[in-house]
Amino acid sequence: MQFNHIANAAVPAASGRTLPVIDPSTGEPYDDIPRSGPEDIDAAVRAARACFEGPWSRLSPAERGRLLLRLSLKIAEHAEELAAIEQRDCGKPTKQARSDAAALARHFEVYGGAADTLCGETVPSTNGTSVLTWREPHGVTGHIIPWNYPMQIFGRSVGGALAAGNCCVVKPAEDACLSLLRVAELAAEVGFPPGAINIVTGYGHEVGDALARHPGIDHISFTGSPRVGTLIQQAAAERHCPVTLELGGKSPQILFADADLDDALPYLINAIVQNAGQTCSAGSRVLIDSLIYEPLLERLGAAFERLRVGPAAMDLDCGPLIRQSQLQRVWDFLSDAQAAGIPMVAQGRVVESAPEGGYYQAPTLLRDVPVMHRLAQEEVFGPVLAAMPFHDEDEAVALANATPFGLVAGVWTRDGARQLRMARRVRAGQVFVNNYGAGGGVELPFGGVKSSGHGREKGFEALYGFTTLKTVAIHHG
Ligand code: NAD
Repeated sequence: MQFNHIANAAVPAASGRTLPVIDPSTGEPYDDIPRSGPEDIDAAVRAARACFEGPWSRLSPAERGRLLLRLSLKIAEHAEELAAIEQRDCGKPTKQARSDAAALARHFEVYGGAADTLCGETVPSTNGTSVLTWREPHGVTGHIIPWNYPMQIFGRSVGGALAAGNCCVVKPAEDACLSLLRVAELAAEVGFPPGAINIVTGYGHEVGDALARHPGIDHISFTGSPRVGTLIQQAAAERHCPVTLELGGKSPQILFADADLDDALPYLINAIVQNAGQTCSAGSRVLIDSLIYEPLLERLGAAFERLRVGPAAMDLDCGPLIRQSQLQRVWDFLSDAQAAGIPMVAQGRVVESAPEGGYYQAPTLLRDVPVMHRLAQEEVFGPVLAAMPFHDEDEAVALANATPFGLVAGVWTRDGARQLRMARRVRAGQVFVNNYGAGGGVELPFGGVKSSGHGREKGFEALYGFTTLKTVAIHHG
């Protein structure tokens, strides 16, 4: 049985209600989490406020930074344990779960180092007046986290918020919270004061909604679906609370005829297969120069046929999807594709030993997907890659920009001038040229345009979002 983490104490939901934790590899329940409600969020917000106005504000930025660094080391010591928790909770293959634990440690390392580097400015003003700007924390920040990368998204969002001087109330996804409850315990062990990090579990429409509406929350960081992002922004607008939204994408990988295909191929596969395609920055569309359309599809198809899917602990190319409804969502996309006559090039295979109750989907490559079909427009959030040809650079740009999203894009060409032109013309928060997702991207500012959201997380840039700027004008004659 798991508990909420409020003021460094393990507490059940005030209602005493619980929700089962399901292993996506088997479909079997194996633990319980609190099904919390507004009263639990209220307790967490009060704990965070008391910490913010008390011990947290008394720490210097350097002392805050040292705490984050201590937590980073502690996470690294417990990386195998955390990876194992995340593996079972989310159905992640071992390599993915380990890399998520490493990214979590790295986020606290980066933000620990950055905590005492946030500077304001002096502003030229009239004689006799000195004007300064200070970057101040918002106060109590709310973090609503999805199930696809709990550790990574907690690291980037809570790590940045704490470094900037905020105290945090976290609502993980109901499908995946166990690793974060453990990280909160580790944070208490390394000396985070009660209330600095609080975690309240439960359903989005119950406890997430209560967090978004709570008047004691001074900033909300949300990662998840566009539909819920709209609800969060509407709730926050009622009290003019600032919001950062990270809502996913339909990211294109654009391959010109002069690209190094040997280099590109593993990236193209990984960008859609990683985490079984349940990645906001998944490269879920591949736009291919018509000159190399057929030969590249042949190579991609052969690679897809080799992909293997099975239980997370088998550490294959893909683990299961998170839950039955997500599997059904992918099936709906694929049956729509079939009804529309969209040709399938190739599929991977689910291994025979995969338990029947698990949520397995073979990676699937489709070709000639019409630009306005929902497969080319909407996030599938599964291992489904949509290929389409283009004939020149203008058409490549038009196709790349022809969705409501704008999160990430990959451009593959050896032509330096074209690399720069494409990077400028594609509307996305990140553009990778001849690579994709550089180094896990902890230091790289991340976020979208259009329906992919607004605001930036990761990198130093995120710290600005977790602060508010105060201008101080001192008249001294
Ligand atoms: P979701 O948006 O419903 O859930 C994300 C988080 O929001 C979870 O913690 C959830 O409990 C919470 N939430 C849900 N309803 C809420 C509400 N009314 N008020 C406040 N919080 C609420 O996403 P999902 O249902 O888990 O996944 C559906 C789709 O969302 C996916 O298929 C995918 O397209 C997208 N998604 C994107 C990302 C991403 O990283 N961008 C992550 C997860 C899901």
